[in-house]
Amino acid sequence: MSKIKVKNPIVEIDGDEMTRVIWAMLKEHLVLSHLDVDLKYFDLNVMERDRTDDQITHDAAEAIKEYNVGVKCATITPDADRVKEYGLKKQWKSPNGTIRAILDGTVFRKPIMVKNIQPAVRSWKKPIIIGRHAYGDLYKCVEFEVPGKGRAELVFTPQDGGESTVLNVKDFDGPGIIMGIHNTDKSIRSFANACVNYAVSEGVDLWFGAKDTISKVYHAHFKRVFGEIVALRQKELIEAGINYRYLLIDDAVAQMMKHPGGILWACKNYDGDVMSDMVAAGFGSLGMMSSVLVSPNGQYEYEAAHGTVRRHYHLHQKGEPTSTNSVASIFAWSGAIRKRGELDGTPEVCGYADKLEAAVLGCIEDGIMTKDLTHLVTPHQEKYETTEGFIGQVKKRLEKSL
Ligand code: NAP
Ligand code: MG
Repeated sequence: MSKIKVKNPIVEIDGDEMTRVIWAMLKEHLVLSHLDVDLKYFDLNVMERDRTDDQITHDAAEAIKEYNVGVKCATITPDADRVKEYGLKKQWKSPNGTIRAILDGTVFRKPIMVKNIQPAVRSWKKPIIIGRHAYGDLYKCVEFEVPGKGRAELVFTPQDGGESTVLNVKDFDGPGIIMGIHNTDKSIRSFANACVNYAVSEGVDLWFGAKDTISKVYHAHFKRVFGEIVALRQKELIEAGINYRYLLIDDAVAQMMKHPGGILWACKNYDGDVMSDMVAAGFGSLGMMSSVLVSPNGQYEYEAAHGTVRRHYHLHQKGEPTSTNSVASIFAWSGAIRKRGELDGTPEVCGYADKLEAAVLGCIEDGIMTKDLTHLVTPHQEKYETTEGFIGQVKKRLEKSL
């Protein structure tokens, strides 16, 4: 079989544990077997990050800046136990966090849907994609336990020597708590631009919710800055047939429960943290959740939303069979391949991504699946494939369609 030529490189980022095992299989059987592609390879397994003092993570992010498309395997974010387990120099930062910061990107999570897994919410027919603003608010807060009677104030001192602004937060007459949170216009604009990029790229409507009726400055400002970017890019949205809608966050939540889906829900940081877990649970399984990091400049990095599936890796190490779901990792590859094809103007490359995804969905809809899905499908089934068995079945089906 002759291979399909991919014009420009894809940045490939390898990772850890079970997902690393799966990664090698996918690359051999579903990527390099059919595509002639230049993969710029960065090995982000935790030992390599440790050896290079995490330089490799920075290099990988810079490569995505250069080539615009990346695909990433799940990686360990070391905690104290992992430092011991792997003998690391220190608790290296989350590679995803580092790459996101370098690209100034926003993460969009999109469930992968199949006919035989019904979402928990009856009206959901298409994916609800969550875009979470991953900067500021609660996650960069300054907080304080008020010990007793006293005044709490909010003070801003301009750097140019102007007069300070002082606002009274609360005159406490006993113990309590206070918190200071912030965001920046720059970060809100990057978030809004990434959301518009993603909505245009996927052809889905864009919703944004906040609570500006109560927070008449903070949330209202956020809403205005976000809305200004949307207004600036109105022409692109109209051309793509995309509607933008601002809603109060509680209204957005209520609407979502009767919505058919097929939309991008842009969330402030905390809302995104909470709602992405709700939506993920509502659609079924972590193994079926894809994720893409989009920069305001139009760079894309695709990955699975789940982690390195450590428990399965330990079984694998003991030589026991595993049944780990590779669907989200396969969709990371197909997402990157399709985006590469779109940016290069090579429809045959996009076509390959479509066929790969169709092969995966076709398998599951015909009852070929990993163990995690057997109790989610209707009707429930006993029979399941091993990790490599499922990938082999996808390959067979894919090759029939090529
Ligand atoms: P995890 O890898 O998400 O897995 C947690 C559990 O969810 C698994 O034990 C398994 O349940 C189920 N699961 C997740 N993905 C699955 C799949 N593809 N197929 C079948 N079952 C799946 O989380 P973890 O094991 O707690 O974390 C391991 C490491 O992942 C951590 O070091 C963390 O830092 C890292 N992590 C990385 C990323 C990333 O790189 N994007 C994201 C999250 C976490 P059962 O055990 O019940 O089968
Ligand atoms: Mg969460």
